[in-house]
Amino acid sequence: MIKLKGIAVSGGIGIGKAYLLGKEELSIPKRKISYADISREIYRLEEALIETRREILALQRKIPQEPGFDHALVFEAHLLVIEDRVLIEDVIGQIKEKKINAEYAFSQSVKKYIDALLKLDDEYLRERVIDIEDVSRRVLKKFLKEKTVSLGDLKEKVIIVAHDLFPSWTATLPKEKVLGFITDIGGKTSHTAIIARNLGIPAVVGMQIATENIKSEDMIIVDGSEGCVLVHPTEKVLEDYQKKRAKYTQEIKAIPVPRLFKAYTKDKKEVIVSANIELPEELPLVKEYKAEGVGLYRTEYIFLGRGDLPSEEEQYKAYLNVAKKVKPYSVIVRTIDIGGDKFLTQPQVPKEISPFLGWRAIRFCLAHPEIFKIQLRAILRASSWGNVKMMFPMISGIEELRQSRKLLEECKKELKKEGKHFDENISLGTMIEVPSAALTADVLARESDFFSIGTNDLIQYSLAVDRANEKVAYLYEPGHPAVLKLIKSVIDIAHENNIWVGLCGEMAGELLFAFLLLGLELDEFSMSPPQVPKVKELMRSVSFKEAKAIAQKAMKLNTAGEVERCLQEELKRILGDDFDRLLLA
Ligand code: PEP
Ligand code: MG
Repeated sequence: MIKLKGIAVSGGIGIGKAYLLGKEELSIPKRKISYADISREIYRLEEALIETRREILALQRKIPQEPGFDHALVFEAHLLVIEDRVLIEDVIGQIKEKKINAEYAFSQSVKKYIDALLKLDDEYLRERVIDIEDVSRRVLKKFLKEKTVSLGDLKEKVIIVAHDLFPSWTATLPKEKVLGFITDIGGKTSHTAIIARNLGIPAVVGMQIATENIKSEDMIIVDGSEGCVLVHPTEKVLEDYQKKRAKYTQEIKAIPVPRLFKAYTKDKKEVIVSANIELPEELPLVKEYKAEGVGLYRTEYIFLGRGDLPSEEEQYKAYLNVAKKVKPYSVIVRTIDIGGDKFLTQPQVPKEISPFLGWRAIRFCLAHPEIFKIQLRAILRASSWGNVKMMFPMISGIEELRQSRKLLEECKKELKKEGKHFDENISLGTMIEVPSAALTADVLARESDFFSIGTNDLIQYSLAVDRANEKVAYLYEPGHPAVLKLIKSVIDIAHENNIWVGLCGEMAGELLFAFLLLGLELDEFSMSPPQVPKVKELMRSVSFKEAKAIAQKAMKLNTAGEVERCLQEELKRILGDDFDRLLLA
């Protein structure tokens, strides 16, 4: 048995067989064939291509059909590769001239194709290499009679092991078949971690060497609460973990699903607890866990894992779908936050040395008004439903906010002219996730209807810690006094300017910090759906008055460790036996 350590990002225990994604090397046999075998080899090639085509079409059909979540297009690119006549003629040519078997000829032609693309001075074509590698692996597995298991195809429950999970993989994710996630890279707020948490799947990321130490079919245990993975556990360890898993499930069940959408503290202070969503599977959870609407709708997942851009109509349908489903509560649609650790296939963005500091979010949108305006129009149109709010990510100063508002006004004028309906008074928020925005919050507040603090980014930018880099994850501290001072000042400035302020980073769903944020007088807490019942129960069990006093005390401390210890002691005192049940579940 070996024990590997990583970063605990989504609680719970998964026990099962590993399914290693992406890194498998296929060994392709090379055989000399006779003249008489040529036609048989060409037939085998055609068979493999036809079967692969069938498989891809079936996969496309299985992808969730919620409006606006059209990831099926990623497979269009794969179909184009296997239908490419130049490639097919080259393979046939090799079979005939070199008298070699079809799979070997195919692998050689693909290699030639990829080498040629890599030499081109065209970033887009070079990036196509991933599609070609992906689909050619599918074809080769057909020759080798190995079944290509896609995530959508999984027959048994497995634990996914990967270097990282790409958005196109999560698109085909059958939640009921995934017992856990393990990745080599990433931190608490990288996109894989957020998805796992939102779907309630145990996950450990930043393991660095997981894919080197785990093979498909290995029996493993992923402990998403402790942040460790056990490979080939002994009988005794397996038994212990089965008990631990049962206890965890019981504890989760013991947390009552709130009866009401509204939440109040013991002394009747109203607290808004809402949900963050990105994938279609998460939408039903908003109601199930009684979240008061959607405090953050990450729209970039509509744009990812596909070869084109979603049209205004497609986006409109997606936003409308969410608005209708969360009514009478509201949905805050965030305009696309592309860049960082999420990239579009089209248009191609040149690779950057520091993508989190680069051409990301509002910076990308302002540089591409033709893309941005389509989204703004679609959100505006969905706002005719009455409960849609909008916010801009990664604003670093007032000019960006003004430029964005100007484009929005242009869109409103256009829609009016076209006779299309929208909410004239749509509420417009600014995300506060860059220290310069936090420090100029007074200026931004005058031109915003609300603030939403994005601590996932605010922490990385104020502490200079890459949120997706496991090597510096120990420095990523939500309780750092610098972060807390920024948050406190943003909340106070918002209130002085008579606007409300929410927080939609992962910190809002962490119980100790949710308690602190209540004491700092935050108005709205938005988090991954499974956190909602816990945070609501916490709010019901504490008083606002006491939270304020404890927050004042915590704000005087010097380190994140001291802050966490103080919050832990105080909450333990207040909650008594319920503390362990709530915090450890
Ligand atoms: C944040 O930065 O806190 C946030 C909610 O946005 P994202 O995680 O999508 O960057
Ligand atoms: Mg952010």
